[in-house]
Amino acid sequence: MKCRHCDTLLFNSFLNLGMAPPSNAYIEENEINHYEKKLPLKVSVCHNCWLVQTDDYVSADSLFSSTYAYFSSTSSSWLSHAKSYVEKITDELILNKNSTVVEVASNDGYLLKNFVEKNIPCFGIEPTESTAAVAEKIGIPVIRKFFSSELAYQLVQEKGAVDLIIGNNVYAHVPDINDFTKGLKILLKQNGTITLEFPHILKLLQYCQFDTVYHEHFSYLSLHIVERIFKKFGLRIYKVKELSTHGGSLRIYGCHIDDSRHNDSSVQSIMDKEVDFGLLSMDTYLNFQSRVIKIKDDLLGFINEKLLVGSILAAYGAAAKGNTFINYANITREMIRFVCDAAESKQGKFMPGSHIPILSPSALREIKPDYVIILPWNLKDEIIKEHAYINDWGGKFVVAIPSIKIIN
Ligand SMILES: [Zn+2]
Repeated sequence: MKCRHCDTLLFNSFLNLGMAPPSNAYIEENEINHYEKKLPLKVSVCHNCWLVQTDDYVSADSLFSSTYAYFSSTSSSWLSHAKSYVEKITDELILNKNSTVVEVASNDGYLLKNFVEKNIPCFGIEPTESTAAVAEKIGIPVIRKFFSSELAYQLVQEKGAVDLIIGNNVYAHVPDINDFTKGLKILLKQNGTITLEFPHILKLLQYCQFDTVYHEHFSYLSLHIVERIFKKFGLRIYKVKELSTHGGSLRIYGCHIDDSRHNDSSVQSIMDKEVDFGLLSMDTYLNFQSRVIKIKDDLLGFINEKLLVGSILAAYGAAAKGNTFINYANITREMIRFVCDAAESKQGKFMPGSHIPILSPSALREIKPDYVIILPWNLKDEIIKEHAYINDWGGKFVVAIPSIKIIN
């Protein structure tokens, strides 16, 4: 396998999570006894450009099918994150009715609806039919395609270049990151701005967030690698912001390489932080697997101990993170009775691989589990607050990453 950015042959695979089904391939009841596709889940780092990447086995088309069930608007903290971003960027770039904003992977319109309210022209790019339809219903035009350099050319011909391109949690999910970046360059107006948010690989390694690895998540990004890719395609990062979302993300602000804006000191400061942490040193990667094994063993030890004394265990959050962890640890429905999730589109289905049933959060009140393992640890505060009533019957929340913790 070759590096997706620089084409160097990869031979530093540092994380092996075994065989896993595509993380969003939720199972219907009548499919439970059918053959289920599982693929190796491995991560490598390129010794030439340091792009951390999932080994390539699955084509993007088969991963993001039209039934792909993730709706951004189900998370209230994510909605308020989007709203405050729109307030700030509108002021900073002085956006108005003559501007054009585009969001790549606009999902159900969770972010662009804030521009619609401000009468700032915008449109979304979103290949997933079910989420695009929701966005259109609230007045956001959506191009139902994957973003690429070819689509960018077409859009410039039809609509002209744009003032602001937004990409939240999409850059790490594109198989061809070079072509995607080339597309950003093409679509961006002179003096225009790009903002991209992605989980920071530094936090993944620091806090052992191995469950953020899944087939659809192709790249694990640092400021170093994004700066390198931007440069190759005539773009520049002039500012970076560290965010707490998804366990620690970066929001980078990009422009054309010859833009008059100077680089903010944040760029150099985060570059330095990455070097100090060891992102450009192979040892940092090679000791990661053993830390992952410890987290898995600790959670399995906890589950077995509680099952032996007759406790009822459930989990919260049927998302990609949980699927990675559950499949890697071989957790079955005999161990965790159900996973609850607020997204109606997932309820009544089963987790890929483990086939643990997905129920509405109301199942917590009916079944009264003793322990609820929060799978999306990045949303733990929100989940604990909303479901604090489990304390009424002595129920407790549990998180496993970065280390096992029981929350009373
Ligand atoms: Zn490379």
